[in-house]
Order: sequence, then structure tokens, then C-alpha cells
Amino acid sequence: MGLVNDRCICLRKFEYSETSQILTLFARQHGLIRVIAKGAHRVNKSGSSKFGGGIDLLDLGDATFTDRLEKDLATLTEWKLHDGHRPLRSTLRGLYLGFYAAELASLFFEQRDPHPAVFDHLEKLAADLATRRIEQAFLAFELNLLREAGYLPELSRCISCGTAVQARPGPMSFSADQGGVVCRNCESVFPGRSAVDGRLIGIIQMVLNLGDARAPLTRLPVLTRHQTDPINRLLMEHIQHSLGRPLRMRGYVA
Ligand SMILES: [Zn+2]
Repeated sequence: MGLVNDRCICLRKFEYSETSQILTLFARQHGLIRVIAKGAHRVNKSGSSKFGGGIDLLDLGDATFTDRLEKDLATLTEWKLHDGHRPLRSTLRGLYLGFYAAELASLFFEQRDPHPAVFDHLEKLAADLATRRIEQAFLAFELNLLREAGYLPELSRCISCGTAVQARPGPMSFSADQGGVVCRNCESVFPGRSAVDGRLIGIIQMVLNLGDARAPLTRLPVLTRHQTDPINRLLMEHIQHSLGRPLRMRGYVA
């Protein structure tokens, strides 16, 4: 039986039977992997357990798992925890955004399709979410993930006629089902559009230009929830429409 080792972040967990967990891990070199961690909650006589008592969402560790492509569910054989993100777990906002980031990362890619740049960004985000730069850190991750997955909405041209659209203060129209901004001339034919302040579109464009995975957070504008709540709602609407399903963390984020 072939075993592989990879640096992993836990994106989804499901308690399975009294003692086991089924997890979706984001493996840096292997992409999304579903594993079963048998005996994760079983404590031996010395008081310890095989995977440190169970693996939590966002936990970062070195995982060893079986590598058989024909099997949908791999078996986790070893887990060495590197970072359980204690500081993050003491802030509710940080935790919600972290769980939302994990949910998004679990939805956009096929299994075993590696995206190491997204992995590195998520690893960095988990630390940044415990700082005061939380809002801009999350937005930069969210936008980079959408870009890498090919789901970024069109923000600089009207999705109907292709005219260049300038983000300036005042109401602009955004169509979640068409995935982008709509110019004044075309907006009447998009009844499902929502109104968005052009300044927010400008913020999204700025973060997209400055906030790639390796850029220091200090380059990004300082954002508050007054700005990020409507942006996150807009992107969430677009994401739900693109994926054709509601997100579990809706209602916790914006
Ligand atoms: Zn137009």
C-alpha cells in the first residue's frame, strides 16, 4: 500500500461513528483529499490518542495517507499538528471568516487538483485573521481564490455590452446571475441586478491589484465591516449563483 506525506489544512470534518472522523484535507501538493481518520477519538491507556484527540477545521499539519487514486476515500495514517491556530479560535469574527475561507476552498476545485498558491495563501490567512488586518486579509484571499478558480466576477466592463465601466462614487448595478457589473444603458434588461456603491467596486479592484498571495498585508487598504459586509454579500451572491447552491456559512459572514 503506497503512502504519501503532505502538508495539509483541514477544510471539512464530519464525525463518523463514536471514534472516527471523515475529513476533507487541502493538501499542498495533492489538492483536495477526502480521508477517514479511524480512531481519532479513541483514547489509549496512557491517555493519548492517535490524532491528538481529533482534527479541527483549519488545523495545519503533516499528514500521511494512503494514495490509491481509484478510491474516493483515503485513509489517514498519521497526523502531526503544526498549528491549531489558538489565537484565531478566541475571536468569533476571525473564526467565522476562517470557516468561510475553508468552505470556499473546499468547493471550487476537483479532488486531487493541486493549487499550492491558494494553499499558501490560506495558511497565511489563518494567522492574519487573528490580527487587526482581518477584513482586508480575508477579502484578498477570497478574491485570489476566485481568480485562481476562474470565478472572478467582471468588474471593469459591462457584462452585457462590453463598455468599460469606471468605478466611481454613486450607485452601480451588479448582476449576480450574469457575474458582473452592468452599465447604465443596459441595466433595465437585468431585473435581478442589485445596486452597489461604485466605491466598493473600486475597493475590490484595488485589493485585486495589490493583494496577491505573497504581498504583505500592509500594502492593502485598511477596511472595516462597513465596507467589507456589502462586498462579501455581493461576492457571496455571485458565488452561490455560480455554484448553484447555498453556502453553509451564509448568515455568519455578512
Ligand atoms: Zn452595457
